[in-house]
Amino acid sequence: MARRKIIAGNWKMNKTPSETTALINELKPLVANDEVDVVFCVPAIDIIPAIEAAKGSNIQIGAENMYYEENGAYTGEIAPNMLTDVGVKYVIIGHSERREYFAETDETVNKKVLKAFEHGITPIICCGETLTQREQGIAIDFIRTQIKIAFQNVSADNASNSVIAYEPIWAIGTGKTATTAQAEEVCKAIRECIKEVYGSDVAEKIRIQYGGSVNAGNAAELFAEADIDGGLVGGASLKPDFGKIVNYK
Ligand code: PEP
Repeated sequence: MARRKIIAGNWKMNKTPSETTALINELKPLVANDEVDVVFCVPAIDIIPAIEAAKGSNIQIGAENMYYEENGAYTGEIAPNMLTDVGVKYVIIGHSERREYFAETDETVNKKVLKAFEHGITPIICCGETLTQREQGIAIDFIRTQIKIAFQNVSADNASNSVIAYEPIWAIGTGKTATTAQAEEVCKAIRECIKEVYGSDVAEKIRIQYGGSVNAGNAAELFAEADIDGGLVGGASLKPDFGKIVNYK
């Protein structure tokens, strides 16, 4: 089954609202491609100007994080209906930086994934191993656990519509990309894990991205792999290079 590729940018903590407008106006013509889904995940304060600037283009706007409660005394957090109210369709959940610096766990990831689906937001669920785990030969076991917990109580329908981003932590922002074979091996194992939980129909539909120093030079090779359905792109998503990644063919 041919899955539609999804190429998402993760801006992290970069760009002010006015810089957001300028960058989207610059990238808009470069990322035009009707054959793939193009998502820009931006900081919370940039979401509204991003949506305004992206109007009339193929760019969809996503958030980088979201809380798992509806509202209330959670200073500094963003509720799911705040995102849907302005037209957000995607949210990154459980990025390794959030796990490392903001104490996110597999359990909070699962709560956020369930909440995102309740509100019709597609989660981009991040998983990935450290260099030590890879060297110890436990990367795939570790990721299988992350996936199984992230998907607890998620229906098959919702699972089919979710996006998983495999991001080896040692490849994020380091300039070190996993080899195509390493990336495909893990993405395939993730699809196998989804198949064990939900069956082959869901496993064939779910989209699995690779993330970790994706750039204009390596995107085509990575995205040609059978189990890699696009990418989650950090650094290169803030540059005209992102246009080349989106138009990798
Ligand atoms: C990321 O932040 O998800 C990421 C993959 O970053 P980079 O592309 O800069 O490695």
